[in-house]
Amino acid sequence: MKSQDIRSKFLSFFEEKKHSIVQSAPMVLKDDPTLMFVNSGMAPFKEYFLGNAMPKNNRIADSQKCLRVSGKHNDLEEVGYDTYHHTLFEMLGNWSFGDYFKKEAIAWAWELLTEVYGIDKSILYVTVFEGSDDEDNLDMDTEAYNFWKEYIAEDRILKGNKKDNFWEMGDQGPCGPCSEIHVDIRSAEEKAKISGKDLVNKDHPQVVEIWNLVFMQYNRKANGKLENLPNKHIDTGMGFERLCMVLQNVQSNYDTDVFTPIIREIETICNKNYGKDEKVDVAIRVISDHVRAVAFSIADGQLPSNTGAGYVIRRILRRAIRYGFTFLDKKEPFIYRLVDVLSKKMGAAFPELKAQKQLIENVIKEEEQSFLRTLEQGLVLLSRIVDETKDGTVSGEKAFELYDTYGFPIDLTALILSEKGLKLDEEGFNEELQKQKNRSRAASEMSTDDWTILFDDAEEEFVGYDTLEANVKLTRYRKVTSKKDGEMYQLVFNLTPFYPEGGGQVGDKGYLEDSHGDVIYILDTKKENNVIIHFAKNLPKHIDESFKATVDAKQRNRTECNHTATHLLHQALREILGTHVEQKGSAVHSKYLRFDFSHFSKLTVEELRDVENFVNRRIDGKLPLIEKRNIPKEEAIAEGAMSLFGEKYGDTVRAIRFGNSIELCGGTHVKNTSDIWHFKIVSEGAVASGIRRIEAITNDAVKDFYHENNRAYFEMKDLLNNSKEPVKALQNLQEENTNLKKQIEILLKDKAKSIKSELKNELTEINGVQFLAKKLDLDAGGLKDVAFELGSQFDNLFLLFATEQNGKALLSCYISKELVASKDLNAGQVVRELGKYIQGGGGGQPFFATAGGKNPGGIDEALRKAKDYIS
Ligand code: ATP
Ligand code: MG
Repeated sequence: MKSQDIRSKFLSFFEEKKHSIVQSAPMVLKDDPTLMFVNSGMAPFKEYFLGNAMPKNNRIADSQKCLRVSGKHNDLEEVGYDTYHHTLFEMLGNWSFGDYFKKEAIAWAWELLTEVYGIDKSILYVTVFEGSDDEDNLDMDTEAYNFWKEYIAEDRILKGNKKDNFWEMGDQGPCGPCSEIHVDIRSAEEKAKISGKDLVNKDHPQVVEIWNLVFMQYNRKANGKLENLPNKHIDTGMGFERLCMVLQNVQSNYDTDVFTPIIREIETICNKNYGKDEKVDVAIRVISDHVRAVAFSIADGQLPSNTGAGYVIRRILRRAIRYGFTFLDKKEPFIYRLVDVLSKKMGAAFPELKAQKQLIENVIKEEEQSFLRTLEQGLVLLSRIVDETKDGTVSGEKAFELYDTYGFPIDLTALILSEKGLKLDEEGFNEELQKQKNRSRAASEMSTDDWTILFDDAEEEFVGYDTLEANVKLTRYRKVTSKKDGEMYQLVFNLTPFYPEGGGQVGDKGYLEDSHGDVIYILDTKKENNVIIHFAKNLPKHIDESFKATVDAKQRNRTECNHTATHLLHQALREILGTHVEQKGSAVHSKYLRFDFSHFSKLTVEELRDVENFVNRRIDGKLPLIEKRNIPKEEAIAEGAMSLFGEKYGDTVRAIRFGNSIELCGGTHVKNTSDIWHFKIVSEGAVASGIRRIEAITNDAVKDFYHENNRAYFEMKDLLNNSKEPVKALQNLQEENTNLKKQIEILLKDKAKSIKSELKNELTEINGVQFLAKKLDLDAGGLKDVAFELGSQFDNLFLLFATEQNGKALLSCYISKELVASKDLNAGQVVRELGKYIQGGGGGQPFFATAGGKNPGGIDEALRKAKDYIS
């Protein structure tokens, strides 16, 4: 069965069981501070499990892109070495939100595997939770055991401990016992030697878990205690690539049609064969896995960068480059060339790959180029370290510096050192690494209390599209303590006019006031798992009374001008540059807006002017805001709205329209484009290969910008004696300046010539050496010219010249090459030694060297001492 059919069979099976099929959510999470990437199928549905939102259908099935490279689930270091863990993989899942529970979940899983996919029952094992006698004191999951008994022999139902059979999302939140389904795909011979039962959960590459059925029935609180969930849920996750391995009768995920086309391409490009040499195989697996992770991330809008999620992506790509460099001998970029097969293979199920192929290729290629340069520099530095190593061991500190400052991978360092017969002080390296980790952990340490619930009001309403003021009641709050911000309170209200940071737009600020006149400032507003959270330094005094909540109107208005201008800018760019332009990032602040988009060349002055004019015409056109809330996504798309890759949309969306600009957007906007007053681009540049960035300002910021420019203009005009034509006056000044410079140059040359003939007469012969030490009124270049001029006429010259320029001293020593050889003299040594009289230092070559110092008072002494070198 082809992988595409395996995927679609899964989805249609659950569709028949009344599940809604949804698209995979983007891999990069935007409003969950506890998680960087989606690492399991349930992550995008967290808000449903936490009860913060209600799904339209309480049965859902999907194939979710997951990335396990950071945090609680991190498989990165395994990938390549085993045959069944990936960084990016697809998790097939079916979900019940307060609907069906264990009975149906188990029955359907069994039906799908054995009847639809026709997997032989005799290769299956299942596990159930055995209970725990720790502080949680949980019973065995006999419920699940009894359901399984109906389908599978009891000696194939294995009991498992908390580590394998109790699933927790994180330190807090929904959790519960789980049942895993394992396959044993070994040969009959192998099976005769040892029973599959003894290999389940033992890291055997052919006895692997394929599906995990999680029965969410508890909530883990911050104090560690479990409480029963009011609604029980089903969360299942099946590894798609592992399922393909079973159904395609192969022994490794990499031998399925998900990977073979990529592997064939790597073999061709690198001229290596897969399956001959373990080191080469590992490298090929690493690269075929990592290119998928990186390509999907870029398609979801996450570019490699130096911080956060972008840094994780950069590290994955660098790991792939490093394996190619070391084990496949690829010293030039090639990973980007794999994107083509990948998008052909997966583009039907994941159209974002196809649509952004060119961008993905560009970004990967540029990263490859720059990291290969780093590797080359690292090799040079490393060979220097090798040369300096006396006792056969390279210190952990040096290796760490190479790793930390230059980004040179430690395993490459270790490999190269061992090839040269040197040792690496690994312990020392690990110590340095630990020290650095402790430093960054201390900086980001944070503790979060449980919510204190004042009254339960599940649906928190956002009223900030229509008003900046509202009477609100506090429904819950908690304290968060971090090194960075100290103690902060997070407040949640029954309704709120405060816009939470999202869609690039900053969160609102403002204040709360109670009937006693007590005021609490709201410093920021954010959304977490669909809850709007207000940040305050203190807790209100009268927490159970109602408050007047007021948004800072000035900041909000300025932000709105920038948000609407962002939409118009997006429209302008697509109109003027072409429809290949796609939003790649947006930041809407009160003071400015920043917009990143795909485009392949620098914008010309004319293009920038056209874009500005386009936007300003729409501002002058006084276009009214036409807002549609809660319309079906299809309706908005049909009207011409653009949806963005990497954005997670609900079933219904909000469409924002100004003239012909229509966008799906949750942000706040001006009522009429004329409110923006004016739009001005302040900068344009590149962020990455194929991605440009425009920064622009509107309204008050434009006024400030013009005022500032105006002030500078009048100041300049004043300096130009109020000339009627200041530009012309400035041009004249520049011309005059150039002419003067030329004249000075000529004069200086003449001066050097006459000085030279004077100096010739001042030479004295000492011990067969033509000697002169003298202070001259020339600059550094002049001293050199004179020295070399004289040098060309004598072959036994020793000169020490000095000069004083801008309060600093300069020495310059010239010794004929013949003297350097015959008398063992060295100009470099002379200036270093005499440099101490002028409190400075310098160096150069044996026949010519210079030194600078801060004490011109020492010049005479230095000149006097010069004679010592030849007498
Ligand atoms: P394992 O013990 O094999 O690492 P897991 O316990 O971490 O698996 P779950 O968190 O239960 O797995 O995820 C559900 C399913 O997703 C697993 O049954 C497996 O099929 C698949 N899966 C998990 N991690 C990976 C991975 N790194 N690459 C590919 N598939 C995976
Ligand atoms: Mg795992």
